[in-house]
Amino acid sequence: MLLSDFPRVPLAHLPTPLEPLPRLSEHLGGPEIWVKRDDCTGLATGGNKTRKLEFSMGQALEEGATTIITVGAVQSNHVRQTAAAACKLGMDCEILLEHRIADPGDLYRNSGNVLLDRLFGATLHEYPKGADFDAAMASIADEVSARGGVPYIIPGGASNKVGALGYVGCVEELLQQCDEQDVSFDHFVTASGSAGTHAGLAVGLRASGSDMPVLGIGVGVPHDEQVKRVVDLAIDTAGYLGKPGCVTPDDIVVDCSYIGPGYGQPTDAMNEAVVLLARTEGLLFDPVYTGKALAGMIDYVRKGRFDSSQKIVFLHTGGAVGLFAYGDVLDLE
Ligand SMILES: *Cc1c(COP(=O)(O)O)cnc(C)c1O
Repeated sequence: MLLSDFPRVPLAHLPTPLEPLPRLSEHLGGPEIWVKRDDCTGLATGGNKTRKLEFSMGQALEEGATTIITVGAVQSNHVRQTAAAACKLGMDCEILLEHRIADPGDLYRNSGNVLLDRLFGATLHEYPKGADFDAAMASIADEVSARGGVPYIIPGGASNKVGALGYVGCVEELLQQCDEQDVSFDHFVTASGSAGTHAGLAVGLRASGSDMPVLGIGVGVPHDEQVKRVVDLAIDTAGYLGKPGCVTPDDIVVDCSYIGPGYGQPTDAMNEAVVLLARTEGLLFDPVYTGKALAGMIDYVRKGRFDSSQKIVFLHTGGAVGLFAYGDVLDLE
């Protein structure tokens, strides 16, 4: 099937820019590094969830949904973009927030993404870490139905075969930009979390005949668990797209060495990366995802794990709103 055969609602500003990072590349002295600016997708300050939500919300509309239900951490960028999309499409939004961080400060609990969730008027339900969110979302869906509404559940990060189509689309867009800008890349680097982005990229590349390797830098769970997440979703997405078998477990490469103490917990390398990109390129990266993924990419460059003659494209998945939630823990000296 073609991407245009799936229900889709326009939410993102596309195409997002593809830009070189000359000052960062010079500073690191290794390969030429470029960035694909999915922080510029536009919806409520943008980010990678917007591409996925074009397909999730497209299906929700087709099913006549009145209320979107989804889940994420207190500082979830996915939740913020979903709440905004629901407003734009005239739907209600029920949000389950997971307290994934121990002893969060006031900024973490009230600023950044969650401040915007409240601005969008989403109904927020808070849960401790590790709650049974599938059961909790099903029970909220029952309540919505009992009130006469039509619920539509979007899993965390919009990471199912529907949402992952957004990153199949991102690949089509990138390959066209490579053509137009007369550039090609040897390596794709992205943060790998709930896995829809990483899986969608891998499927998109292989389905279009590209063998460009994708390196996913894990931000939450341990290596084997993350690999399984991405592989399972990539296989599911390839089948949904009508390209079963285009992607194999060998296509999925994950490095989980840059997580530090845990999901959403700052690391020195993340802090260094966020400050470096701000001061060399004027770009905003985030403490939870892109900062850790960048820290991984920078470490690979410093260790000579990319050849200096190569060109690398880093997917900027957004998240800068989260900086405000970490304003009291970042070291900006
Ligand atoms: C959700 C998110 C990611 C990870 O994408 P997944 O599809 O969940 O793996 C990376 N960066 C940012 C800023 C995000 O919000």
